[in-house]
Amino acid sequence: MLYDIIIVGGGPAGLTAAIYARRNGRNVLLLEKEGFGGQIAYAPRVENYPGVGPVSGAELAENMLTQVMVLDTDTDIGTVCSVRQENGCWQVATEEGDVFQGRAVILAAGAAHRRLGLPGEDTLLGSGVSYCAVCDGGFYAGRTAAVVGGGDSALQEALLLSDICEKVYVIHRRAAFRGDAIKQQRLFSRKNVTVIAPAVIDGLIEKDGSLAALRLRDTETGRTRELETDVLFVSIGLKPELGCFENVLPLTPAGYADLDEGCAAAIPGIFAAGDCRKKTVRQLTTAVADGAAAALAACDYLDTLD
Ligand SMILES: Cc1cc2nc3c(=O)[nH]c(=O)nc-3n(C[C@H](O)[C@H](O)[C@H](O)COP(=O)(O)OP(=O)(O)OC[C@H]3O[C@@H](n4cnc5c(N)ncnc54)[C@H](O)[C@@H]3O)c2cc1C
Repeated sequence: MLYDIIIVGGGPAGLTAAIYARRNGRNVLLLEKEGFGGQIAYAPRVENYPGVGPVSGAELAENMLTQVMVLDTDTDIGTVCSVRQENGCWQVATEEGDVFQGRAVILAAGAAHRRLGLPGEDTLLGSGVSYCAVCDGGFYAGRTAAVVGGGDSALQEALLLSDICEKVYVIHRRAAFRGDAIKQQRLFSRKNVTVIAPAVIDGLIEKDGSLAALRLRDTETGRTRELETDVLFVSIGLKPELGCFENVLPLTPAGYADLDEGCAAAIPGIFAAGDCRKKTVRQLTTAVADGAAAALAACDYLDTLD
């Protein structure tokens, strides 16, 4: 079967693209490698999506998927590993060995937060480990928070948390921070902020199923100690996974799709949407905006072929 549009990634951007494309009468295949809903399915509570909530990320994702399924969208599970042009259409291949054919492709593969790789990091997600202070900071108002990271986003998250938390620790593996100097000045002058650097987190200490403390190691002296905290925000960067689409997408040095808000690549028929695209704010609202823009641009492109 030849699809009008194949969407790679079933997160908020891909699900929104599917809704817009189906409502435009296009036949659509939505491919997802893990579980539909993307990153938001892991959010314990979403409070900043206009008109909805508070709601669990899993429920929000389920509602989005239902909206897609009601429109009779074809879906499949598979990890897309290549997109290439052959016989006048796009061949979208998965690691599992399937090849699907489409006239246009929307890449909505998201970006994953880099993890520390510590034992317990996955199980404590939502119980004291978070990757998004904008999303989860409010749950720790008046309590103690720690942020690990030395770039702009870590500084920004710590600033946000210092407005609402009683105490904020900022942990960085180097003595010097990489982030913006003005942000550093603002942050480090706050009375409820303590910088711990150079130090790394060697372990997460759990009590009754929640994070209780961090095991820290001073990288200069090698000395270790425990630091009590209610939450750890891991802000050590995002990692897009677009490497196998380099042949069709221009990528920034950091690996994001280097496309503007129109979401269209220079190669006709290729679009990218959501967190995988170069942008300053990566949130639900910006992901669904991209999904809509990419789908409508793909529909316009198909109109020129019909
Ligand atoms: C714990 C957590 C809490 C958050 N809370 C909030 C919040 O409260 N409010 C808010 O606005 N934002 C929040 N965010 C951010 C928000 O979830 C993201 O901005 C949004 O999900 C981005 O949507 P996306 O579709 O672009 O990417 P993603 O959600 O990353 O979805 C991309 C999808 O593509 C799939 N995929 C990737 N590669 C392939 C491939 N090769 N083949 C097939 N499928 C592939 C992935 O499995 C994934 O399902 C949170 C993020 C996290 C991690």
